Amino acid sequence: MNRSRKYLRPKGLRYVLYRLWRWIFPTRAPVRTWMFLTFALFVGLAVVGAGLYTGLVLHGQLRSAMEQTLRTQAERLLTQLEQAPTPEEAVALARSYSRVTEVHLTLARGETVLWDSEADRPLEGENLRARLGMDVDTERPVRFFERLHPDGQRWLYVVLYRPASAWVLRLGQPEPVLFKLAQQMELTLLVGMLAALLLALLGSWIATQKVTGPLHAIRSSARNIIEGHFDEKIQVHTRAAEFQDLAHHLNKMSDSFREKIAELQRLTRLQTEFIGNISHEVRNPIFSIGGYLEALASPTLEPEVRKRYAEKALQNLQRLNNLFNDLIEIARLEYRADLIHPAVFNLQELLDEVVEMLRPKAEEKGLIIHAENSPLYVRADRERIRQVLTNLIDNAIAYTDEGYVRCRLRRRRDKVQVEVVDTGRGIPEEHLDRIFERFYRVDPDRSRRSGGTGLGLSIVKQILQAHGEAIHVESTVGRGTRFWFELPYAETDQPVSA
Ligand code: ADP
Repeated sequence: MNRSRKYLRPKGLRYVLYRLWRWIFPTRAPVRTWMFLTFALFVGLAVVGAGLYTGLVLHGQLRSAMEQTLRTQAERLLTQLEQAPTPEEAVALARSYSRVTEVHLTLARGETVLWDSEADRPLEGENLRARLGMDVDTERPVRFFERLHPDGQRWLYVVLYRPASAWVLRLGQPEPVLFKLAQQMELTLLVGMLAALLLALLGSWIATQKVTGPLHAIRSSARNIIEGHFDEKIQVHTRAAEFQDLAHHLNKMSDSFREKIAELQRLTRLQTEFIGNISHEVRNPIFSIGGYLEALASPTLEPEVRKRYAEKALQNLQRLNNLFNDLIEIARLEYRADLIHPAVFNLQELLDEVVEMLRPKAEEKGLIIHAENSPLYVRADRERIRQVLTNLIDNAIAYTDEGYVRCRLRRRRDKVQVEVVDTGRGIPEEHLDRIFERFYRVDPDRSRRSGGTGLGLSIVKQILQAHGEAIHVESTVGRGTRFWFELPYAETDQPVSA
């Protein structure tokens, strides 16, 4: 027997109740429905509670207070009537009492109705006491009842029975104005409460609109953003601070995502360009090497030509070697931020080493290279800074045909400024921003001829960035170029290792 069937197909009253409950309180419904239901429930409960209180409790209290007053009045009168020496005198007393107070009096002794104030005489007839509502006895000596008079007024009657004297008194009085007023008030109160209920429902509907309006706007904007409309701004027309803040934060979040996506797209583009550039840079020297090797295989080649081809092949090999070294350097810097190991060292000494290494290249071109500086200590990664200096001075020599290359160190407060100046061809202004990009060259042919990979300055920039520093350049076409950067000055004049 499958026990779960009972739950899958509930039947009967329980099922109907369950469906009704689910219809009133669904598992998923708009905020507007929930807020409306909550308001309606609470206001409805308040109205029903107040209605029940006025209708049952207050009405009952008023009524019993009135009955009590009537009864006291009747008791007093009946006591006086009992004391009358004769029934005639009792009737006379009752008559004068009814005139003064304008009450409806009926007086009986035993089964005989002695006098009725409306008829102003004794009444006769079958079963008269019962008809007049005066059928009281020892068991039930007091009775109250209401009667609607032909003029539309409601009268309240009390009937009293004194077993000792067998007197029965019926005393009727129109409902007091106060009681009527109270009843009217009850009615007004009920109508007022119903109106309040309607107003509260209307108010709750307006309130829910106010709350859900901005939520709808936020939801539809969020949907648009999900669908790829990243420029969409969430706009809510509300004075509610929470919604204003929510929209503001969501907009900020979407802005930052947009920026990140743009950055990722830019990086992907750069990456694609980079890979394209690498394949181009690699293919060219390989083709050249292949061509020269093929030519070298020819047995009829003049020794002079053979030598030149071998040199060209080697030159291209060197270019490939340089390219791979630079690529490895870039990859290292890119993926290993911890590759920088700062230590205190004498920058002047390092600069001299680099200058001496490159001096032959400068002299080969007839260039003068100046690097006369006094010792200055900095805190940086010595080997990486060697690379920076090499790239900058090597470029200065490569792109200068005559004049000089000057390398200068200067202390500037807590920094040491390094400057490489040349009297070369200079860089046109429109290229200045781009020369630090990978593979960007002002004159690609000249760069390749001088063994350049187009990566030197981007490596310089990356190394200095890893040190928290920047590279600067200024240049005048035809007059020369000046590159400079700074490194943190180290107080000590003794080298200290990291
Ligand atoms: P390359 O390997 O081509 O030298 P770099 O990244 O070192 O690559 O430099 C990028 C480009 O900047 C060079 O191709 C060159 O056009 C220009 N450049 C760099 N240094 C100098 C300089 N001192 N004088 C003139 N142009 C320069």
